[in-house]
Amino acid sequence: MVRLACDVHTHTIFSRHAYSTVEENVRAAAACNFELLGVTDHFSPMIHGVGPEGASMREFQEFINMRMWPREWHGVQLMHGCEADIVDLQGRLFGWDIPVTYHLSVPAEPPYTMLADVVFSNCQYVIASVHEHGWAEGATREQNTQMYVRALEHPKVLILGHTGRSGLDFDEEAVAEAARDAGKLIEINEASFFGRNNALERCEQIACACARVGCMVSTASDAHISYDVARLERVRALLERVDFPQHLVATRSAEAFLEVYENFS
Ligand SMILES: [Zn+2]
Ligand SMILES: [Zn+2]
Repeated sequence: MVRLACDVHTHTIFSRHAYSTVEENVRAAAACNFELLGVTDHFSPMIHGVGPEGASMREFQEFINMRMWPREWHGVQLMHGCEADIVDLQGRLFGWDIPVTYHLSVPAEPPYTMLADVVFSNCQYVIASVHEHGWAEGATREQNTQMYVRALEHPKVLILGHTGRSGLDFDEEAVAEAARDAGKLIEINEASFFGRNNALERCEQIACACARVGCMVSTASDAHISYDVARLERVRALLERVDFPQHLVATRSAEAFLEVYENFS
């Protein structure tokens, strides 16, 4: 039986279309005897309607005080990050080109810091995910592959989120090799197996590619309500079906995940 003890991609009310607090998620993880929870709210044009004209940190302040969270709560190790949208074929992340022109209460002075840099500096790790992908229309498999490889090159990105349901064709083995070489992770995401995004077959192919090349994976519920935190039945079933090697599951224990995290940060 595959052991899973960490849920490293979850959302709270700060994602707006999610409905639980940090503590509710922690309690849900504790109830399932999980050892580690990662809270990774959306950093995304889905949530934040700002453009290159500039951003105020007032609209992003949920990200700038996360270091005050307890490191352990209700017996669960608690980590903080965000899930950032990939926004172009260069694999760049939301906010990379948005200057912070206003702090919390006073205007910022040039030279401006970029929004992604401010938010990411407050995160322990970033999950890079494709959501809206009009920018990839007409892109080749090779271009999509490069997009993921470049996203992995960002120093704060530890995990590629739900690649199995991005809807983009890419070379999963090439991306897995890039993640392996960088000591980073490809996510197997429980929420990919529901509704219109059902992507079971694609997720299986990706898991198999990871096993073949020796790339570690992370597991996550992608919960948008505490009820779903630590529910990884379909992820577990998939990993067992493809006989995925336990030692490549970074989320098999808090210790294993923290070792990956320490080597990366
Ligand atoms: Zn996502
Ligand atoms: Zn998510």
